[in-house]
Amino acid sequence: MYIAMALAALSTIAVASRAAELPIDSAPSRSRYLMGTVCEVAVDGELEKAEAAFAEIARIEQLISTWRESSELSRANQSRCAIVSRELFTLLDEAMHLARATGGAFNPLVGPLVQLWKSRGEGVVPADDDIDRVLPLLALDGPRFDSASRRINLPAGVSFEEGGFGKGYALDLAAAALESAGAERFVIDFGGQLMIRSNEPVEAAIASPERRDEIALLLSISSGSLSTSSGSEKSFAAGGRTYSHILDPRTGLAHPPRGSVSVVSGSAMRADALSTALYVMGPADGLAWANAHDVAAVFIVPASTGWTVILSNQATTSGLAVRAVRPDFNLKEGTR
Ligand code: ADP
Ligand code: MG
Repeated sequence: MYIAMALAALSTIAVASRAAELPIDSAPSRSRYLMGTVCEVAVDGELEKAEAAFAEIARIEQLISTWRESSELSRANQSRCAIVSRELFTLLDEAMHLARATGGAFNPLVGPLVQLWKSRGEGVVPADDDIDRVLPLLALDGPRFDSASRRINLPAGVSFEEGGFGKGYALDLAAAALESAGAERFVIDFGGQLMIRSNEPVEAAIASPERRDEIALLLSISSGSLSTSSGSEKSFAAGGRTYSHILDPRTGLAHPPRGSVSVVSGSAMRADALSTALYVMGPADGLAWANAHDVAAVFIVPASTGWTVILSNQATTSGLAVRAVRPDFNLKEGTR
């Protein structure tokens, strides 16, 4: 992660994220390892305030991490009928709402499919029969929510997986914690997803889809979250091919890496889930969906030479001035 900031005037902040392990440039920041990745917080003012963000993320990790058997989500997954906290109930309800809105391209019930492909680990191509057996577990009408009792009923074998939205949710609450602590201007880089609060535009980088340590594009963002879903990241090899760790819950298939999708939204959870969803939809359907739902999205698509960069209408009109920093990334005509 790399945050280069000049905090004297936040107008000159330059954030270049998604490059691993680079030093912070002239900016007071603190880092902590949380939710399986590094969270870096740069604050204008007392850096001590970063601790409020870390504490909040640690709390959310204990709430939703399926890597921890003791998390409330893990325990709810193990029980077919759980009464959960108001916070977990609202979060899972919202995740299911995003799943329905995206036609299941984003699907928080993807867990059994992730296990089948072993895509969090060494990776394996499953048999068609196994995919057919698992797909019904991903049905969006499976979990039943009763808000009066905060009860969630899960059919046998169905479970929630926070991989596609947990980091974004944690970022929203980390930002709220910083604000409660009195921080007005800050940048949080949580494993490559950014949350920015500034009164002047900040330059935020999108990495090359092939090399996460190489900057391809710069965006100007003054407030909101930037989430990128990329095929190269955490891809896995199986059966002689390379696959992206993002799976298509509608078909049960994994795809070879195919560029990247970045989403900018005031809600980091929405940015997180929608970058995953648009990646699954692919550039044609994804762009149509983003345009129909006023989502600011930037698609990087492989071209015959180099890459084509396509902006959704909202990305064009919302002042996210996008500029390519490498000659092989070509902004499509009319998208500026
Ligand atoms: P990253 O975690 O690398 O930032 P994403 O935010 O795109 O990437 O989330 C990928 C994770 O989300 C996967 O590791 C998996 O746990 C889960 N996941 C994979 N495909 C989907 C999907 N279609 N919908 C929801 N979650 C998914
Ligand atoms: Mg995501």
